[in-house]
Amino acid sequence: MARYTGPVCKLCRREGMKLFLKGERCFSPKCAFERRGYAPGEHGRMGSARGGMERLSDYAKQLRAKQRARRIYGVLERQFRRYFTVALRKRGLTGLNLLQTLEMRLDNVIYRLGFAANRAQARQLVTHGHFTVNGRKTDVPSMLLRPGDVVAVREGSRRRTFFRELPDIAEKRPCSPWLERDLQQLSGRVLRLPERAEIDGALNEQLIVEYYSR
Ligand code: SF4
Repeated sequence: MARYTGPVCKLCRREGMKLFLKGERCFSPKCAFERRGYAPGEHGRMGSARGGMERLSDYAKQLRAKQRARRIYGVLERQFRRYFTVALRKRGLTGLNLLQTLEMRLDNVIYRLGFAANRAQARQLVTHGHFTVNGRKTDVPSMLLRPGDVVAVREGSRRRTFFRELPDIAEKRPCSPWLERDLQQLSGRVLRLPERAEIDGALNEQLIVEYYSR
């Protein structure tokens, strides 16, 4: 599946908020949003979404909510719409189903375990074949996991410097409560689906549902 390859800091500026797409840089003064917290482009200062959401039309608010979620999870439109269709068919709240589906992506789980600085890095580690799911090597970052699934760094990859240093680095990163991680084994287990409070609070799933229900 394809991915966005353009400048990522522009995405934060367009959304009017920090999406934390880069890792450590996002917490440093070098963050582009800290320096230029208005939308990119010639008219960016006029049309900035920052603090101006109330001025937007209903459609624009729905669109921004959808784009924000897409950009946070690094998913392109076609696949995002597919996730929505899947969420619609499931029982329960469509918006929550959608967010849970996004959270169960393999690249997101690796990021949530603290094994990568951001989802883009997690995605790259998967495509380079460094991870197994339930003991089987996989290189598909969009793979959807289920409760009980075990993710681990592949035996052959553990000798690499990156993974030898990873336990010390990952220890300083938070691990989501719906996951269980083993830093020594560089593995993690999905315990259950995440609850709404455990997912990014900046997402507005209701507006996303409204966007696709027009
Ligand atoms: Fe967004 Fe991070 Fe770039 Fe800041 S450094 S604009 S938070 S991606």
